[in-house]
Amino acid sequence: DAAINRIAAGEVVERPASAVKELLENAIDAGAKRISVDVADGGKTLIRVTDDGCGIAAEDLPLALSRHATSKIDGSDLLNIHTFGFRGEALPSLGAVGRLTITSRVPGEPAAEISVAGGAVGAVKPAALNSGTVITLRDLFYATPARLKFLRTDRAEAQAITDVVKRLAMAEPFVRFELRDVSNDPRTVFKAEAQGGDVVAALKGRLRDVLGAEFTDNAIAIDAERDGLHLTGFAALPTYSRGAAVAQFLYVNGRPVKDKLLTGALRAAYFDFLSRDRHPAAALFVDCDPQRVDVNVHPAKSEVRFRDPGVARGLIVSGLRHALAEAGH
Ligand code: ADP
Ligand code: MG
Repeated sequence: DAAINRIAAGEVVERPASAVKELLENAIDAGAKRISVDVADGGKTLIRVTDDGCGIAAEDLPLALSRHATSKIDGSDLLNIHTFGFRGEALPSLGAVGRLTITSRVPGEPAAEISVAGGAVGAVKPAALNSGTVITLRDLFYATPARLKFLRTDRAEAQAITDVVKRLAMAEPFVRFELRDVSNDPRTVFKAEAQGGDVVAALKGRLRDVLGAEFTDNAIAIDAERDGLHLTGFAALPTYSRGAAVAQFLYVNGRPVKDKLLTGALRAAYFDFLSRDRHPAAALFVDCDPQRVDVNVHPAKSEVRFRDPGVARGLIVSGLRHALAEAGH
């Protein structure tokens, strides 16, 4: 069973950044408004995510670590997913390949914690914590040395973590994020205060914090609809260039995705404006009834499958072209 867990874990957790992604998604699912991430040595020795979300009751802590246990859907509802998590795989996977401690508190009850290392789960113990959840993951992949060998330098792994935090921060502008590197002299790598105002203003503020004012000053707001699929976000004017850096952030129902269909549509929308070596820059959100898109394609969940891909593509191409034309391009 421990071996099966470690194999399954490899599917969910490829590298430190994938662990950070899973832990951040859990914090967001828990309704957190403030999330901080501490990492050391590119996440290889330490990843700690602290949130002010709903917490986990002491009696549910062992459940959070058992495979396929999720508090988020009842199993019959795989077509109707509104949370990031639904597989109940992340925490057991992390506990199979590293040393994981969950400390948590639900309002009105004492705090408790549980630890698991290399798949061996300990007892629930009393703990000290004001509220929310702290998840500490040490020595990722110590139980799977082969995987450890494939990791890149601390610097490269740290960069991948920063990218994950920024990508999720763009999807959640009302949540405060802070990422700290605590390897030697602790320093803040990235910080974004919670935005206020309406969704469009909040998103613009957050994009300014993440991508810089050059992006938001040169981007237009997108708002289009086709056959029940909605497209919102900001797209850069063709005159804006980030040079070689690709700045394409695509989300489906709030979930960051890397999807060929969507990036292809984005490229097609800008086709008349861009030379071969320039990439369109945009942060775009496609929202639809969860039944119209399958997010269950891969354990890491960054690919999606639309029930009607043509509609998704058409929405992006025509939505962006229309907005660019209105802006005089
Ligand atoms: P999933 O997110 O797919 O449900 P996970 O293994 O990521 O599975 O988490 C297992 C369960 O642990 C979740 O369903 C949730 O009930 C609980 N949980 C995990 N992280 C948190 C958190 N930060 N705050 C509150 N509950 C959490
Ligand atoms: Mg999860």
